[in-house]
Amino acid sequence: MKGEKYLFVVSGPSGTGKDTVVARLLKDHPEIQHTVSATTRAPREGEKNGINYHFMSVADFEDHLAQDQIVEHTQYCGNYYGTLRSEIERRMAQGIPVILVIEVEGAGNIKRLYPGATTVFVLPPDMQELERRLRNRGTESEDTVQRRLKRAQEEIAHSVEYDEHVVNDQVEACAEALYSIIQSRLQHGQDA
Ligand code: 5GP
Repeated sequence: MKGEKYLFVVSGPSGTGKDTVVARLLKDHPEIQHTVSATTRAPREGEKNGINYHFMSVADFEDHLAQDQIVEHTQYCGNYYGTLRSEIERRMAQGIPVILVIEVEGAGNIKRLYPGATTVFVLPPDMQELERRLRNRGTESEDTVQRRLKRAQEEIAHSVEYDEHVVNDQVEACAEALYSIIQSRLQHGQDA
């Protein structure tokens, strides 16, 4: 599909700081846009509907699926998450670089659907640091922290499938590394 090279998929285990890195990138480079996914997870404190996610009931999410309004979706720690078609296809057609921050299964599905997309995996400096960041967030129960740590190990095992890798040691440097990847792909990427 035309415009696939404008699609960038960013994954990384929960707690790796990928959202902070992407937020920094978007602040420094406002020509790049970010998709807002649909989820059935409850909002965390401070999260806003339509900004962080489109928060939906399970029935609503299933309705969007039935109407083919969701291009990929997954279940993550007991909740649905999915990318809305309306969030990506218009931007691809207009040549607007767009970033999806999604987990590994979704990233694989996007790459199959849009082979010209670029996948980037954000790695934590090490597992101890990942656990520290997850706990410091203070918004998750111990059970959720444990589930997310287990899932993190599974996700890191999939990092070899990604086109590009960055390590989030320091947010600003990581955001710039991501920007260099985007610039290079926009210059040299195939536009089907
Ligand atoms: P969180 O609950 O921490 O906001 O997100 C949990 C995981 O779901 C993260 O890895 C996040 O990147 C991923 N995620 C968010 N939106 C989507 C989506 O639309 N599709 C998929 N496959 N994963 C998503």
